[in-house]
Amino acid sequence: YSTAAAIEEPIKPSLTIDHTQLLINGKFVDAASGKTFSTLDPRTGEERSRILLRFADLVEKHNNEIAALETWDNGKPYEQSATIEVPMFVRLFRYYAGWADKIHGLTVPADGPYHVQTLREPIGVAGQIIPWNFPLLMFAWKVGPALACGNTVVLKTAEQTPLSALYVSKLMHEAGLPPGVLNVVSGFGPTAGASLASHMDVDKIAFTGSTATGKIVLQLAATSNLKKTTLELGGKSPFIVCEDADVDQAVELAHFALFFNQGQCCCAGSRTYVHERVYDEFLEKAKARAIQRSVGDPFKGGIEQGPQIDSEQFEKILRCIRAGIDGGATLETGGERFGTKGYYIKPTVFSNVQDDMLIAKEEIFGPVQSILKYKDLGEVIRRANASRYGLAAGVFTQNIDTANTLTRALRVGTVWVNCFDIFDAAIPFGGYKMSGQGREKGVYSLDNYLQVKAVVTPLKNP
Ligand code: ADP
Repeated sequence: YSTAAAIEEPIKPSLTIDHTQLLINGKFVDAASGKTFSTLDPRTGEERSRILLRFADLVEKHNNEIAALETWDNGKPYEQSATIEVPMFVRLFRYYAGWADKIHGLTVPADGPYHVQTLREPIGVAGQIIPWNFPLLMFAWKVGPALACGNTVVLKTAEQTPLSALYVSKLMHEAGLPPGVLNVVSGFGPTAGASLASHMDVDKIAFTGSTATGKIVLQLAATSNLKKTTLELGGKSPFIVCEDADVDQAVELAHFALFFNQGQCCCAGSRTYVHERVYDEFLEKAKARAIQRSVGDPFKGGIEQGPQIDSEQFEKILRCIRAGIDGGATLETGGERFGTKGYYIKPTVFSNVQDDMLIAKEEIFGPVQSILKYKDLGEVIRRANASRYGLAAGVFTQNIDTANTLTRALRVGTVWVNCFDIFDAAIPFGGYKMSGQGREKGVYSLDNYLQVKAVVTPLKNP
């Protein structure tokens, strides 16, 4: 009987459940107390990892609808949503499904006649506040580990992008998640977000967004119940092109590091440091590449850049561009809106950028590349580290000594060497300095959603 077909296609019984009472003396009757209790389908029951795996399968099945929703809400190219972001979302849930049954404590060899063990328990109710730049991926980074560790979740989406989270949460319930375990609230920051951060019954808060709002969240957590807090905040990441670099490749990667997702990445390589020996060639090619970037309706094929998220961000980016010009940087290309409607901005490149200019210090969150010249490694390390942020860095070199020196010297949470924006589920992500506290993804995220309980028992009864 055990054929593959039988395993793949389970029989679906057409059956209504009529008998749920007690059978006493030949009759179905209610309990004297009137109470009822539920019975679990053991195929779906309490197996956390199976629910997450089934959920990942469902999301995969609905890949294109979910991708369309994401692009509709956010404006990012549909091809990016469909071929990068939904698949990464699925991978992340499969990764954390794999952890769900591997969370365990230790037996600890302590002094004294005691048996000591640690238990790793869920924290309880996890509050999660996410931004609009990667609505699906931020959902996955937060909800995946929280559920794998056995917590319940109240997630607040960004007011600009509530749709994809609602869609996938419905699929999560179809996958068998019991009601009440994952709750999604669409709402605004100072009301819904602040209530979560200050709520006395929320045991943990995970926040991704701006550094300014991160400070508010930490304060609310501290003045309410000291809930455990993780923060993933802003950045001003250096992308360092070394003197030995293949310029064509360096230009392409630096371009991607900054312009990906309309420049709306907390880790965007927004300070492009180029060694003086290759600076002129790099600049000319970086400008040409920006001019070539295809901007337009994100639902069209071949489009690299869609609109910015909203008018507020659009205006802020244009203000930063004006500050760049007023501050004395050279506008090489772009610098204005693209077209006449929507929040499109022309890919913009500034050269002759100095470290103390606003465009080299503030997070722009838009398609604006700032190119800075440097002479030697010690100098670029000092300048790269002279930022209150410390989220990520890119390093472009073929020289292993240079790579080793930079990876050790840069005070950032991620260094990508000869690559950028590699975000596999297993790789931890988070910031040094004012770019945040804690790490998400990988094995590190489990600690965010678990408590350690020490259990001490005498080896012999007294
Ligand atoms: P951005 O400027 O990129 O929109 P924010 O940090 O303001 O970044 O937003 C990120 C998330 O934080 C969003 O979900 C937003 O609603 C929420 N948020 C904004 N203000 C507050 C606040 N005072 N308390 C809690 N959450 C907030």
